[in-house]
Amino acid sequence: MDNASSRLAEIEANIARICKPARRDPSQVTLIAVSKTHPAERIVPLLEAGQRIFGENRVQEAAAKWPALREDWPDAELHLIGQLQSNKAEDAVALFDCIHSLDRPSLLRALAKAMDKAGRRVPCFVQVNIGDEDQKGGCPIADVPAFLNEVRAADIPLAGLMCIPPADREPAPFFALLAKLAGDNGLSGLSMGMSGDYETAVQLGATHVRVGTALFGVRGQP
Ligand SMILES: *Cc1c(COP(=O)(O)O)cnc(C)c1O
Repeated sequence: MDNASSRLAEIEANIARICKPARRDPSQVTLIAVSKTHPAERIVPLLEAGQRIFGENRVQEAAAKWPALREDWPDAELHLIGQLQSNKAEDAVALFDCIHSLDRPSLLRALAKAMDKAGRRVPCFVQVNIGDEDQKGGCPIADVPAFLNEVRAADIPLAGLMCIPPADREPAPFFALLAKLAGDNGLSGLSMGMSGDYETAVQLGATHVRVGTALFGVRGQP
């Protein structure tokens, strides 16, 4: 088996193993293969192995790589997991099937306008600044309920909440807090967990895990 497909099988098996004691159905957990920085020839083996959902963090990079890949795999689904500038909203709406980084009113307005113009509604996760970090994107926790109301009023399909916990802290309390916030606000989608902590995230209710390094190897190294 090819390297990428054996890694894929291993991660899927890990997710299934964690789901069992948590009494969760593994089909409730969507594995997003984060292909940022990796060229098409690294992505193709995963497509051939059956993976269909991919994550990219830059609009421009995704626009360069994915239209060609989608000609061969028209059912591939593309998720934007990185910060989005309002002036790229139109490109993002045209290219992505889901956006995980809706975090502020100005971006909400730009996305709503872009979706109206394109006649296409793209589901969005609201990203929460779960560790209250100055440098990080994400809606402040206290502002989440009001912001969710704005998203609903703009008729943007709400996929759930997303977070990236502080890099140097135990992630579990932050995942638990995001799950609580989602439940309190009537949402079930939870985009949380990366290569180092996706198992913990699944234990705590993740519906979407974003895994790059564990699938593709370390970025920037061939
Ligand atoms: C790069 C990235 C990931 C994947 O990280 P890995 O540690 O390589 O699995 C997940 N989520 C976001 C938002 C990212 O930018």
